[in-house]
Amino acid sequence: MAIKTTCAYCGVGCGILATRTGERSVHIQGDPDHPANHGRLCSKGTHLGETVGLDGRLLHPMIGQRRASWDKALDLVAKRFRDTVTQYGPDSVAFYVSGQLLTEDYYVANKLMKGFIGSANIDTNSRLCMSSAVAGHMRAFGEDVVPASYADLDAADLIVLVGSNTAWCHPIVYQRIRARCAAGATLVVIDPRRTETAEEADLHLAIRPGSDVALMNGALAWCREAGAIDERYLANHVAVPDVFWKALGDGHDLWSVARTCDLPAGELRRFYELLAATPRTVTMFSQGVNQSLAGTDQVNAILNLHLATGRIGRPGAAPFSITGQPNAMGGREVGGLATTLAAHRDFAPENRAVVQRFWASPTIARKPGLKAVDLFRALGEGRIKALWVMATNPAVSMPDAGRVREALAACPFVVVSDVIADTDTGAFAHVRLPAAAWGEKDGTVTNSERTVSRQRALFPLPGEARPDWWIVSQVGRRMGWKSAFAYDRPADIWREHVRLSRYGDDGGRVFTLPTTGGGNAGYDDLAPFRWGGTPFADGRFATPDGRARLVAVVQKPLAAPLTNWPLTLNTGRYRDHWHSMTRTGLAPRLARHRAEPLVEVHPDDAARFGIADGGLARVATPQGESVYRASIVATQRAGELFVPIHWTDRTSTGGRTGLLPRPLADPHSGQPGFKATPA
Ligand code: SF4
Repeated sequence: MAIKTTCAYCGVGCGILATRTGERSVHIQGDPDHPANHGRLCSKGTHLGETVGLDGRLLHPMIGQRRASWDKALDLVAKRFRDTVTQYGPDSVAFYVSGQLLTEDYYVANKLMKGFIGSANIDTNSRLCMSSAVAGHMRAFGEDVVPASYADLDAADLIVLVGSNTAWCHPIVYQRIRARCAAGATLVVIDPRRTETAEEADLHLAIRPGSDVALMNGALAWCREAGAIDERYLANHVAVPDVFWKALGDGHDLWSVARTCDLPAGELRRFYELLAATPRTVTMFSQGVNQSLAGTDQVNAILNLHLATGRIGRPGAAPFSITGQPNAMGGREVGGLATTLAAHRDFAPENRAVVQRFWASPTIARKPGLKAVDLFRALGEGRIKALWVMATNPAVSMPDAGRVREALAACPFVVVSDVIADTDTGAFAHVRLPAAAWGEKDGTVTNSERTVSRQRALFPLPGEARPDWWIVSQVGRRMGWKSAFAYDRPADIWREHVRLSRYGDDGGRVFTLPTTGGGNAGYDDLAPFRWGGTPFADGRFATPDGRARLVAVVQKPLAAPLTNWPLTLNTGRYRDHWHSMTRTGLAPRLARHRAEPLVEVHPDDAARFGIADGGLARVATPQGESVYRASIVATQRAGELFVPIHWTDRTSTGGRTGLLPRPLADPHSGQPGFKATPA
């Protein structure tokens, strides 16, 4: 019988019907009843069945290179964390977790660190993915709510994709966009590269990297001139700082913006005219916006445009941050970021009191913890003395990954829980704990539009692998908090999360999570549901006065190329691979699309640097260097390079992209600026 579950990969969150065909084999189909995909799957989801074998799995706890019992490994982890906290204080330890965790895993890890250890030093690889969107939402709406759904795409007349190769990175959403375009909607793509998505757009603006604020401010200035501002909406629902329109008046005429963004004025005019004339606009944005040193300002420039034109809370009109990972949103709900507490609460005294009372915990984190880049910097400086990495591979994926490796090597105690035995990060671990993989564990995930779906076990746990929530709970119990971590099953954790989200004098923060019955009743058959309805449909926002905020943002000066580093390096994903390929690398058919990492180079730059198509090219930045096979393509802007993020020491001698970006982050969100590295 087919089991309903959810795809392990991206934030689209497609429903799957999985039918076991053998001890470790499964037939995968799209779930026609799931609202995210209506039965469709992309190449990665379709080939999930090729990734469920046990080759390369970590199946037993390991202390150093020796197999250990669970008791021994867990006792050691609990003792080292407890001793470190006793000797150096709670902020001397940290967890670095992942958008691959299920909500229940995330909840328990967050509870242990913030409520019991008493530090907020738990951050997630989602920091690398969408934290600028979170910070932008907080500034504009007073809370982190995505005010859009996939159904808005079906109702939009204009869809603007900013910094998103949606055709490759969110293929099922892209199919929905194509269907809407076939019915008459217009597609505009804003991206420095002529990607597969841009290729099919009605208009592609090959913007200069980092000039998004100028582009969106110019759009708003144009809309104002064209009479497309919704004055009534602004008057009733939005607070506008005195300086806002004045700041917008300077340097946002068509010609100035065209110069800043390095765009033909005619193309820019066409975009602005389309925008001004089309109330039902969805602006969907992703890593090209978020992974920037000005990521939060770029997000707010988009939100400003939608708020000022009243294009929010209405069908077919919304700004839409599409998340990368399968459960980035679930992590946001339970407080998986160092900058939030739980149930979308911040660290205000009243929120700390609510959460501590609910958890009956001995302490509660007093302030936000270290964000990812700062966390690994603190590790390198010896301020973090015990680190637990769960379900992620920072030795590959963090910017300036060479420095991250040095920091991991110097840390007195590193724990890695993972499904794979041999990862780049696991090589630095003192203790490795075998985690349950997709298809073995039960829990929930929340996708980009806030639909919560169940992931369900298809196979028994192999070897001694255990779910992450169980591993973390065991450590919590052994640190001395037995009753607080006495969970028997993920349904217990889900129900606690739901109760916390409704707890407090203010009525709670995640309003519409459905409760379920006792035991596993209700949880087992929990059907996909979207929480929060249509946010802001009533025009009320989560600020003290109920109004959203226009945030005055200015375009930062764009640096000219440096003499020693004359090129600009951008990074991104391939269609058929995921993160550091620990799963997609197992599916031979997925390797056919792109068998090796390529550096994409414009023909002018190839001639300038003597690079041959198909030859090898060394890409260097101030942080490090790596070798790629060169692909000379006119889809790349002159002066800019593009490389993929997936290849690692384990999979290749070249293509080590993590070594190249700067360890610098957006000042508001802490999201690393992976894009536009001098090279
Ligand atoms: Fe999985 Fe994303 Fe593909 Fe859907 S679009 S099948 S969630 S990888």
